[in-house]
Amino acid sequence: MRTQVGIIGAGPAGLLLAQLLAVRGIDSVVLENRSRDYVQARIRAGILEQGTVDVLTGAGVGERLHREGLRHDGIYLQYPGHRQHLDFPGLCGRSVWAYGQTEVVKDLIGARLAAGQQIEFEISGTALHDLETDRPRVTYADSAGVQQVLECDVVAGCDGFHGPSRPMLPAALQQTWVRDYPFAWLGILADVAPSTDELIYAWHPDGFALHSMRSPSVSRLYLQVDPDERLESWSDDRIWSELQHRMAFEGWQLQTGPITDRSITPMRSFVSAPMRHGRLFLAGDAAHIVPPTGAKGLNLAVADVTVLCEALTELLAHGRAGLADTYSGTALRRVWRATHFSWWMTSMLHASGDDFEAQLQLSQLRYVTSSPSAAQSLAENYTGLPLR
Ligand SMILES: Cc1cc2nc3c(=O)[nH]c(=O)nc-3n(C[C@H](O)[C@H](O)[C@H](O)COP(=O)(O)OP(=O)(O)OC[C@H]3O[C@@H](n4cnc5c(N)ncnc54)[C@H](O)[C@@H]3O)c2cc1C
Repeated sequence: MRTQVGIIGAGPAGLLLAQLLAVRGIDSVVLENRSRDYVQARIRAGILEQGTVDVLTGAGVGERLHREGLRHDGIYLQYPGHRQHLDFPGLCGRSVWAYGQTEVVKDLIGARLAAGQQIEFEISGTALHDLETDRPRVTYADSAGVQQVLECDVVAGCDGFHGPSRPMLPAALQQTWVRDYPFAWLGILADVAPSTDELIYAWHPDGFALHSMRSPSVSRLYLQVDPDERLESWSDDRIWSELQHRMAFEGWQLQTGPITDRSITPMRSFVSAPMRHGRLFLAGDAAHIVPPTGAKGLNLAVADVTVLCEALTELLAHGRAGLADTYSGTALRRVWRATHFSWWMTSMLHASGDDFEAQLQLSQLRYVTSSPSAAQSLAENYTGLPLR
C-alpha cells in the first residue's frame, strides 16, 4: 500500500490529523491496534477548549458537538466554606465545552468512514522503518493476520504514551522530562443528572474532588486517591459518601446514581523532545502527557495536529519544508505552557499531608477567587491560549 501520510493511532490526534489532511486533499491511512468499538468506548477526557471546538467545526465534525455539547462559561473553585464561580467570558472572552472524548472519536471515525477513507483497526506488530529517508514504511499484520507494508512520504506517530513511535527517536537526540505525582484520580461515570451547572474543583484536607459531567443525564466525578489504591476497596457507597464529604457545601446536595464506569488513573507530567525525527512527526500523548487537572491532554493533541497539518500540507502539496522544520519547536512552546498550567492546578488543589503546603494552597485559592488578574490568568489558560 502507498499513501502520503501513514498515521499510527486512531485516538483524537490521529483521527483529527487524518480529517484535517483530507480537507486539504492530502491522502492518509490510519492504523490502529484496537477495535473500533474499543476506541469509541474508551472513557477519558471531556472538556474542550474554545480553540478545539473551532478546529473540529472547521474540519466538518462539529455538528453533533454543537447540538449535544454543553457550553461552560466558567468553573467553581471550592475550599471548605467557600465556593466561588469564575466567569470565563467576563475574564477572557472565551468558554469551554463539555463533550466526551468518546463522542469526538465517534464523530471523527464516522466522518472518515462515510467519506470512504481508510482506517485499519485491530492491526498488530506495528513497526516503523527508514524514517531518515523520504520513503519511510510501516509494517504490520492486518486484522486477518496478513503481513502488510505501508509506504508513505511521512509517518505521523499519534500512538499515545505506550506506542512504538517515540522509541524510534535515537536516544542520543531525545530529551525527556518526567514528574510523577504522589496521587491518582479515581474517576466514575454515573447515570445521574449533574448536581451543578459547571465543574466544581474542590480542595479538601482529605483530598481533592471534582464534579464534571458528560451530558444533562451523565455525571463524571473524581476523587484524589493514593497511586497504589485498589478499585476493589471502593464500593459505590464509599465513593458517593467520600464525594459528599469532600464537596460538602451549605445548601447544596450531591445527587447519586448508578455508576457505569470506574477507573484509577495515575498522574504524571511527561515531555519528550524533539517531536520530529527525519520523516517521523509525533503528536499528542505520544510526545507528552499532563495530569488531567487542567483538562489539557485532549486539547494539546488537537493543537499539535492543527500545527502539524499545516506543516505537512506545505511539505507534501507545495514542497516547502519550513513549517515541518519548525513544527517541533512551535508545538513544544504550547506543550510547556499547558504542562506548567496543569502542574500549577494540580499543585494548588491536591492534598499532600503537609500542613505548610495546605496553607499555601488555601492562600492561593483565596487569591485566585478574589483577585481579577489572578482569576484572569487561570481563565486564559483553562480556556486555551490562541492556537497561533
Ligand atoms: C486513562 C486516561 C484517562 C484520561 N482522562 C483524562 C481526563 O479526564 N481529562 C483530560 O483532559 N485528559 C484525560 N486523559 C488524557 C487524554 O485522554 C489524552 O491526552 C488523549 O487521549 C490524547 O490523544 P492521543 O490521540 O494523542 O492519544 P490516545 O488517545 O492515547 O490515542 C493513541 C492511539 O494509538 C493506538 N495505538 C497504540 N499503540 C499502537 C500500535 N502499536 N499500533 C497502532 N495503534 C496503536 C491506541 O490504541 C490509541 O487508539 C486521560 C488519559 C488516559 C490514558
